[in-house]
Amino acid sequence: MADDAVPAHLINSSTGDWEMVIGLEVHAQVTSKSKLFSGAATEFGAKPNAQVSLVDAAMPGMLPVINEECVTQAVRTGLGLKAKINLRSVFDRKNYFYPDLPQGYQISQFTQPIVGEGEVALDMEDGEEVRVGIERLHLEQDAGKSLHDQDPKSSYVDLNRSGVALMEIVSRPDMRSSEQAQAYVLKLRSILRYLGTCDGNMEEGSLRADVNVSVRRPGAELGTRCEIKNVNSIRFIGQAIEYEARRQIEIIEDGGAIDQETRLFDPRTGETRSMRSKEEAHDYRYFPDPDLLPLEFSQSFVDDLAAQLPELPDQKKARFMADWELEHYDAEVLVAEKERADYFEEMVTLGADPKAAANWVLNTHLGRVNKEDIDFEKAPVSAQANTAILKMTDDGTISGKIAKDLYDLVWESGGDPEKLVEERGLKQVSDSGEIEKIIDEVIAANPKQVEQVKAKPQTLGWFVGQVMQKTGGKANPQMVNQLLRAKLEIAES
Ligand code: ADP
Ligand code: MG
Repeated sequence: MADDAVPAHLINSSTGDWEMVIGLEVHAQVTSKSKLFSGAATEFGAKPNAQVSLVDAAMPGMLPVINEECVTQAVRTGLGLKAKINLRSVFDRKNYFYPDLPQGYQISQFTQPIVGEGEVALDMEDGEEVRVGIERLHLEQDAGKSLHDQDPKSSYVDLNRSGVALMEIVSRPDMRSSEQAQAYVLKLRSILRYLGTCDGNMEEGSLRADVNVSVRRPGAELGTRCEIKNVNSIRFIGQAIEYEARRQIEIIEDGGAIDQETRLFDPRTGETRSMRSKEEAHDYRYFPDPDLLPLEFSQSFVDDLAAQLPELPDQKKARFMADWELEHYDAEVLVAEKERADYFEEMVTLGADPKAAANWVLNTHLGRVNKEDIDFEKAPVSAQANTAILKMTDDGTISGKIAKDLYDLVWESGGDPEKLVEERGLKQVSDSGEIEKIIDEVIAANPKQVEQVKAKPQTLGWFVGQVMQKTGGKANPQMVNQLLRAKLEIAES
């Protein structure tokens, strides 16, 4: 970065620079067949109220029983976040009234969560490394859902989600831009998915974030924050932060002060609006749930889980970088999804050059997958096919241009890349006689351009383009360049 460049995460304004400060509270649904304190199923998409036990409906006299699987998942997540695991934690009642909360309280953890301090590391596109502190992770119940659009006169309630286990993962206010906040959620999601502790599906509500935003002059004390509730997509998180930071700056610059409040993001307008102020904030009257004993387990329980953890994104990234000298950011994007990392590794195992394979997967393959907006696993070009394409490019059988065309061909109509090259005559032309013949034709047909290129050698590219076009992209570009220079008497640049 140049000395005079402004660090990317400051907002410039007529009164000087502002820095945004962001901390996130992420709610992640625990992957588990049954709920946190009952045996009811958790599967998404069931008929309303088809998965509600007497405990979830808060019938009198029902007692919660902790689901060991959810505890295991929370501990594994804590280990994945390099966090302190608390061998003793306590469940508290968080009291409030809402029609979708039949108990009249949510069972959560307040002063003694199951997981303490940890950390998530981010590699940003511009090369910056960011470490986001994790303050805590606690287990809690999800609430049900009120349905206001089923009947003109009544509201209904669906308690399928009631009692489903959530992990609330609270970060420190360590992020300084919307990009960092988005990268954090993506990284967290990636870690959870590798662990298999949350499916990370934001559309189905398995992962949602409360976004805390404040602004300050660089280096000053933390400003007053606003909390934007329940943002459920990576894009909306970015939009909400950008809008909210600018809203706060405008208020302060106009001589006002920020009220600490809870706000909602409206995806239609891209704006946030007030939901309730601090004065209206709930007083939850937390107290230890008398129906549940403190949650205690042994260090050996934790050690066993630690020993069985899969290779996580950061370990995989470090391995890719050490073995194949990949760039930080490239490696970060490759390992973000396990399927993607496996695909890349398969190509390397099949003999593709690692750097070329990384480039190809990140640009050509992922580019197409994103453009078509499909799941990575559904892409119709296999790792074998891509390896074959890269090998043929590498040994000069096909040109780089043809490689891209061939990729598109395999994507659209399938087939074996090597056979396609044979059948369709896509081999690179490296026969100098053949190329020379075409060059002579181009030169003869374009006397004006010939004159021009002698004065301005940089226009040589135009000739290269003409020759490539006449050969259907099959001519070996270096050879075309060399032969053109020789014929037109232009020195090598
Ligand atoms: P509470 O428990 O009252 O919601 P916390 O102090 O636990 O408040 O913070 C909740 C979230 O808000 C955390 O993710 C934290 O990082 C974030 N946060 C705290 N102070 C600020 C601030 N000044 N600006 C932005 N985020 C903040
Ligand atoms: Mg909070």
